[in-house]
Amino acid sequence: MFLDDEFDGVPLVRIMGLKRLRRMTRRQRRASNAASAGGVVSKELRSSASASSESENTTKCSSDDETLKIIIAGAPASGKGTQCEAIRSKYGVVHLSTGDMLRAAVSEGTDVGRAAKDYMDAGKLVPDEVIIGVVKDRLSQPDCVSSGWLLDGFPRTPAQATALKSAGVSADCFLFLNVPDSLLIDRVVGRRTDPITGKIYHMTFSPPDDDEILGRLEHRSDDTEEKVVVRLEQFHSNVDAVRGSYEDIGAEIDGSLSPGEVGDLIDSVIEEKVAAKTAA
Ligand code: AMP
Repeated sequence: MFLDDEFDGVPLVRIMGLKRLRRMTRRQRRASNAASAGGVVSKELRSSASASSESENTTKCSSDDETLKIIIAGAPASGKGTQCEAIRSKYGVVHLSTGDMLRAAVSEGTDVGRAAKDYMDAGKLVPDEVIIGVVKDRLSQPDCVSSGWLLDGFPRTPAQATALKSAGVSADCFLFLNVPDSLLIDRVVGRRTDPITGKIYHMTFSPPDDDEILGRLEHRSDDTEEKVVVRLEQFHSNVDAVRGSYEDIGAEIDGSLSPGEVGDLIDSVIEEKVAAKTAA
Protein backbone atom coordinates (compact mmCIF):
# COMPACT_ATOMS: atom_id res chain seq x y z
CA MET A 1 0.00 0.00 0.00
CA PHE A 2 1.25 3.45 -0.91
CA LEU A 3 0.12 6.78 0.41
CA ASP A 4 -1.07 7.94 -2.97
CA ASP A 5 -3.04 4.72 -3.64
CA GLU A 6 -6.74 4.90 -4.38
CA PHE A 7 -9.76 2.78 -3.61
CA ASP A 8 -12.63 3.00 -6.12
CA GLY A 9 -11.07 6.17 -7.50
CA VAL A 10 -10.99 7.87 -4.07
CA PRO A 11 -7.54 8.57 -2.57
CA LEU A 12 -6.89 6.33 0.44
CA VAL A 13 -5.70 9.29 2.47
CA ARG A 14 -9.16 10.79 2.19
CA ILE A 15 -10.86 7.58 3.30
CA MET A 16 -8.57 6.66 6.17
CA GLY A 17 -7.04 9.93 7.28
CA LEU A 18 -3.35 10.76 7.09
CA LYS A 19 -2.39 9.49 10.55
CA ARG A 20 -3.95 6.06 10.15
CA LEU A 21 -2.60 5.62 6.66
CA ARG A 22 0.93 6.56 7.71
CA ARG A 23 0.78 4.19 10.65
CA MET A 24 -0.35 1.31 8.42
CA THR A 25 2.31 2.10 5.83
CA ARG A 26 4.99 2.09 8.51
CA ARG A 27 3.73 -1.19 9.90
CA GLN A 28 3.73 -2.68 6.41
CA ARG A 29 7.27 -1.43 5.77
CA ARG A 30 8.46 -2.94 9.05
CA ALA A 31 6.80 -6.26 8.23
CA SER A 32 8.38 -6.38 4.79
CA ASN A 33 11.81 -5.44 6.21
CA ALA A 34 11.44 -8.26 8.70
CA ALA A 35 10.40 -10.69 5.97
CA SER A 36 13.31 -9.73 3.74
CA ALA A 37 15.64 -10.39 6.69
CA GLY A 38 14.51 -14.04 6.53
CA GLY A 39 11.66 -13.62 8.98
CA VAL A 40 14.08 -12.83 11.79
CA VAL A 41 13.51 -9.35 13.11
CA SER A 42 16.88 -7.89 14.00
CA LYS A 43 17.48 -6.41 17.43
CA GLU A 44 17.88 -2.93 15.91
CA LEU A 45 14.65 -3.22 13.96
CA ARG A 46 12.75 -4.47 16.99
CA SER A 47 13.96 -1.62 19.13
CA SER A 48 13.23 0.98 16.47
CA ALA A 49 9.78 -0.54 15.91
CA SER A 50 8.97 -0.49 19.58
CA ALA A 51 10.35 3.03 19.95
CA SER A 52 8.17 4.09 17.07
CA SER A 53 5.01 2.48 18.45
CA GLU A 54 5.75 3.91 21.89
CA SER A 55 6.06 7.34 20.38
CA GLU A 56 2.75 6.83 18.55
CA ASN A 57 1.10 6.17 21.88
CA THR A 58 2.79 8.70 24.05
CA THR A 59 3.89 11.72 22.11
CA LYS A 60 0.62 13.16 20.86
CA CYS A 61 1.85 16.66 21.57
CA SER A 62 4.76 16.29 19.19
CA SER A 63 2.97 14.45 16.40
CA ASP A 64 3.82 17.26 13.97
CA ASP A 65 4.77 15.03 11.05
CA GLU A 66 1.73 12.84 11.40
CA THR A 67 -0.99 15.39 10.90
CA LEU A 68 -2.06 17.55 8.02
CA LYS A 69 -1.51 21.28 8.47
CA ILE A 70 -2.91 23.68 5.92
CA ILE A 71 -3.04 27.45 5.62
CA ILE A 72 -5.66 28.96 3.32
CA ALA A 73 -5.53 32.58 2.22
CA GLY A 74 -7.61 34.76 -0.01
CA ALA A 75 -9.44 38.08 -0.10
CA PRO A 76 -12.83 38.53 1.58
CA ALA A 77 -15.42 36.32 -0.18
CA SER A 78 -12.79 34.48 -2.20
CA GLY A 79 -14.57 31.25 -1.23
CA LYS A 80 -12.44 30.25 1.78
CA GLY A 81 -15.45 29.47 3.98
CA THR A 82 -17.03 27.05 1.51
CA GLN A 83 -13.73 25.32 0.73
CA CYS A 84 -12.74 25.11 4.39
CA GLU A 85 -15.92 23.23 5.21
CA ALA A 86 -15.16 20.72 2.43
CA ILE A 87 -11.51 20.31 3.50
CA ARG A 88 -12.49 19.88 7.15
CA SER A 89 -14.97 17.15 6.39
CA LYS A 90 -12.72 15.32 3.89
CA TYR A 91 -9.46 15.36 5.82
CA GLY A 92 -10.66 15.56 9.43
CA VAL A 93 -8.56 18.61 10.32
CA VAL A 94 -9.65 21.27 12.81
CA HIS A 95 -10.86 24.40 11.01
CA LEU A 96 -9.67 27.59 12.66
CA SER A 97 -11.05 30.79 11.17
CA THR A 98 -9.60 33.83 12.89
CA GLY A 99 -12.57 35.89 11.65
CA ASP A 100 -14.99 33.45 13.37
CA MET A 101 -12.83 33.34 16.51
CA LEU A 102 -12.80 37.13 16.72
CA ARG A 103 -16.54 37.44 16.04
CA ALA A 104 -17.19 34.94 18.85
CA ALA A 105 -14.88 36.92 21.16
CA VAL A 106 -16.75 40.13 20.32
CA SER A 107 -20.16 38.61 21.01
CA GLU A 108 -18.92 37.06 24.28
CA GLY A 109 -17.41 40.42 25.29
CA THR A 110 -13.98 38.97 26.17
CA ASP A 111 -10.83 41.14 26.44
CA VAL A 112 -9.80 40.05 22.95
CA GLY A 113 -13.28 40.85 21.63
CA ARG A 114 -13.24 44.32 23.20
CA ALA A 115 -9.77 45.00 21.75
CA ALA A 116 -10.85 43.78 18.29
CA LYS A 117 -14.35 45.20 17.90
CA ASP A 118 -13.66 48.72 16.60
CA TYR A 119 -11.12 47.46 14.06
CA MET A 120 -13.51 44.82 12.79
CA ASP A 121 -16.39 47.27 12.54
CA ALA A 122 -14.19 49.52 10.41
CA GLY A 123 -13.11 46.64 8.16
CA LYS A 124 -9.53 47.02 9.41
CA LEU A 125 -7.12 44.33 10.56
CA VAL A 126 -7.01 43.73 14.28
CA PRO A 127 -3.53 44.54 15.71
CA ASP A 128 -1.06 41.67 15.46
CA GLU A 129 -0.52 41.56 19.22
CA VAL A 130 -4.24 40.90 19.79
CA ILE A 131 -4.58 37.98 17.40
CA ILE A 132 -1.18 36.23 17.46
CA GLY A 133 -1.46 34.93 21.03
CA VAL A 134 -4.99 33.68 20.42
CA VAL A 135 -3.91 31.63 17.41
CA LYS A 136 -0.77 30.23 19.04
CA ASP A 137 -2.80 29.10 22.06
CA ARG A 138 -5.46 27.50 19.91
CA LEU A 139 -2.92 25.60 17.76
CA SER A 140 -1.36 24.04 20.85
CA GLN A 141 -4.66 22.56 22.05
CA PRO A 142 -5.02 18.78 21.93
CA ASP A 143 -7.55 18.61 19.06
CA CYS A 144 -5.22 20.57 16.75
CA VAL A 145 -2.18 18.58 17.84
CA SER A 146 -3.85 15.23 17.27
CA SER A 147 -6.02 15.94 14.20
CA GLY A 148 -4.05 18.62 12.35
CA TRP A 149 -5.46 22.00 11.37
CA LEU A 150 -6.67 24.28 8.65
CA LEU A 151 -5.80 27.87 9.39
CA ASP A 152 -8.16 30.25 7.63
CA GLY A 153 -7.44 33.98 7.65
CA PHE A 154 -4.11 33.74 9.46
CA PRO A 155 -1.34 34.75 8.94
CA ARG A 156 -2.58 37.92 7.30
CA THR A 157 0.47 40.12 7.91
CA PRO A 158 4.23 39.48 7.69
CA ALA A 159 4.46 39.88 11.49
CA GLN A 160 1.89 37.10 11.96
CA ALA A 161 3.81 34.81 9.57
CA THR A 162 7.03 35.52 11.47
CA ALA A 163 5.32 34.84 14.80
CA LEU A 164 4.17 31.42 13.59
CA LYS A 165 7.67 30.56 12.39
CA SER A 166 9.22 31.72 15.65
CA ALA A 167 6.78 29.52 17.55
CA GLY A 168 8.00 26.55 15.47
CA VAL A 169 4.67 26.21 13.66
CA SER A 170 5.02 25.07 10.06
CA ALA A 171 2.41 23.96 7.53
CA ASP A 172 2.33 21.37 4.74
CA CYS A 173 0.69 23.65 2.23
CA PHE A 174 -0.34 27.25 1.74
CA LEU A 175 -3.36 27.55 -0.52
CA PHE A 176 -4.03 30.94 -2.08
CA LEU A 177 -7.48 31.47 -3.64
CA ASN A 178 -7.03 34.14 -6.27
CA VAL A 179 -10.17 36.07 -7.32
CA PRO A 180 -10.30 39.45 -9.13
CA ASP A 181 -11.58 42.36 -6.99
CA SER A 182 -14.43 43.05 -9.41
CA LEU A 183 -15.98 39.65 -8.58
CA LEU A 184 -15.27 39.96 -4.85
CA ILE A 185 -17.36 43.07 -4.30
CA ASP A 186 -20.51 41.43 -5.73
CA ARG A 187 -19.82 38.27 -3.75
CA VAL A 188 -19.37 40.15 -0.46
CA VAL A 189 -22.40 42.39 -0.73
CA GLY A 190 -24.80 39.52 -1.53
CA ARG A 191 -23.31 37.08 0.99
CA ARG A 192 -25.52 35.82 3.84
CA THR A 193 -24.92 33.18 6.54
CA ASP A 194 -27.36 30.74 8.08
CA PRO A 195 -26.71 31.13 11.85
CA ILE A 196 -27.95 27.59 12.54
CA THR A 197 -25.99 25.55 10.00
CA GLY A 198 -23.19 28.04 9.27
CA LYS A 199 -23.87 27.55 5.57
CA ILE A 200 -23.03 30.48 3.33
CA TYR A 201 -25.53 31.65 0.67
CA HIS A 202 -25.55 34.40 -1.93
CA MET A 203 -28.77 36.32 -2.53
CA THR A 204 -28.24 36.29 -6.32
CA PHE A 205 -25.95 33.35 -7.12
CA SER A 206 -27.06 30.74 -4.57
CA PRO A 207 -30.13 31.79 -2.54
CA PRO A 208 -31.73 29.17 -0.28
CA ASP A 209 -34.90 27.62 -1.69
CA ASP A 210 -36.45 27.24 1.77
CA ASP A 211 -38.35 30.28 3.11
CA GLU A 212 -37.55 29.40 6.71
CA ILE A 213 -33.80 29.51 5.98
CA LEU A 214 -34.24 32.67 3.93
CA GLY A 215 -35.96 34.36 6.87
CA ARG A 216 -33.14 33.65 9.32
CA LEU A 217 -30.15 34.52 7.11
CA GLU A 218 -27.71 37.01 8.61
CA HIS A 219 -25.78 39.73 6.82
CA ARG A 220 -22.34 40.40 8.33
CA SER A 221 -21.98 44.02 9.35
CA ASP A 222 -18.65 44.28 7.49
CA ASP A 223 -20.05 42.76 4.27
CA THR A 224 -21.01 46.13 2.80
CA GLU A 225 -19.60 47.86 -0.25
CA GLU A 226 -18.06 50.61 1.90
CA LYS A 227 -16.28 48.18 4.29
CA VAL A 228 -15.16 45.76 1.62
CA VAL A 229 -13.12 48.51 -0.05
CA VAL A 230 -11.16 48.96 3.20
CA ARG A 231 -10.85 45.18 3.68
CA LEU A 232 -9.50 44.75 0.16
CA GLU A 233 -6.95 47.53 0.69
CA GLN A 234 -5.73 45.81 3.85
CA PHE A 235 -5.60 42.50 2.03
CA HIS A 236 -3.63 43.83 -0.96
CA SER A 237 -1.11 45.65 1.18
CA ASN A 238 -0.09 42.43 2.97
CA VAL A 239 -0.76 39.50 0.71
CA ASP A 240 2.49 39.47 -1.30
CA ALA A 241 4.66 39.50 1.80
CA VAL A 242 2.62 36.74 3.43
CA ARG A 243 2.73 34.60 0.29
CA GLY A 244 6.47 35.20 0.10
CA SER A 245 6.87 33.54 3.50
CA TYR A 246 5.38 30.31 2.14
CA GLU A 247 6.85 30.14 -1.37
CA ASP A 248 8.15 26.60 -0.85
CA ILE A 249 4.74 25.18 0.06
CA GLY A 250 2.49 27.62 -1.80
CA ALA A 251 -0.13 26.84 -4.44
CA GLU A 252 -2.25 29.40 -6.25
CA ILE A 253 -5.81 28.31 -7.08
CA ASP A 254 -8.14 30.13 -9.47
CA GLY A 255 -10.93 31.07 -7.06
CA SER A 256 -13.15 32.48 -9.81
CA LEU A 257 -14.06 28.92 -10.92
CA SER A 258 -17.14 27.14 -9.56
CA PRO A 259 -16.90 25.89 -5.94
CA GLY A 260 -16.73 22.28 -7.20
CA GLU A 261 -13.87 23.04 -9.59
CA VAL A 262 -11.99 24.97 -6.91
CA GLY A 263 -12.52 22.04 -4.53
CA ASP A 264 -11.08 19.57 -7.07
CA LEU A 265 -7.99 21.75 -7.56
CA ILE A 266 -7.52 22.02 -3.80
CA ASP A 267 -7.83 18.25 -3.39
CA SER A 268 -5.15 17.60 -5.96
CA VAL A 269 -2.78 20.08 -4.28
CA ILE A 270 -3.38 18.59 -0.83
CA GLU A 271 -2.96 15.04 -2.05
CA GLU A 272 0.26 15.90 -3.87
CA LYS A 273 1.65 17.61 -0.74
CA VAL A 274 0.61 14.69 1.44
CA ALA A 275 2.28 12.18 -0.89
CA ALA A 276 5.48 14.28 -0.95
CA LYS A 277 5.47 14.65 2.83
CA THR A 278 4.93 10.99 3.50
CA ALA A 279 7.48 9.85 0.94
CA ALA A 280 10.12 12.06 2.62
P1 AMP B 1 -12.81 37.39 8.02
O1 AMP B 1 -14.00 36.68 8.59
O2 AMP B 1 -11.66 36.48 7.77
O3 AMP B 1 -13.17 38.20 6.80
O4 AMP B 1 -12.31 38.40 9.14
C1 AMP B 1 -13.18 39.41 9.64
C2 AMP B 1 -12.37 40.48 10.34
O5 AMP B 1 -11.67 39.90 11.45
C3 AMP B 1 -11.30 41.13 9.50
O6 AMP B 1 -11.78 42.18 8.68
C4 AMP B 1 -10.36 41.65 10.59
O7 AMP B 1 -10.90 42.81 11.21
C5 AMP B 1 -10.40 40.52 11.61
N1 AMP B 1 -9.36 39.50 11.37
C6 AMP B 1 -9.55 38.20 11.03
N2 AMP B 1 -8.38 37.56 10.93
C7 AMP B 1 -7.43 38.48 11.20
C8 AMP B 1 -6.00 38.43 11.23
N3 AMP B 1 -5.31 37.30 10.97
N4 AMP B 1 -5.34 39.58 11.55
C9 AMP B 1 -6.00 40.71 11.84
N5 AMP B 1 -7.34 40.83 11.80
C10 AMP B 1 -8.05 39.72 11.50
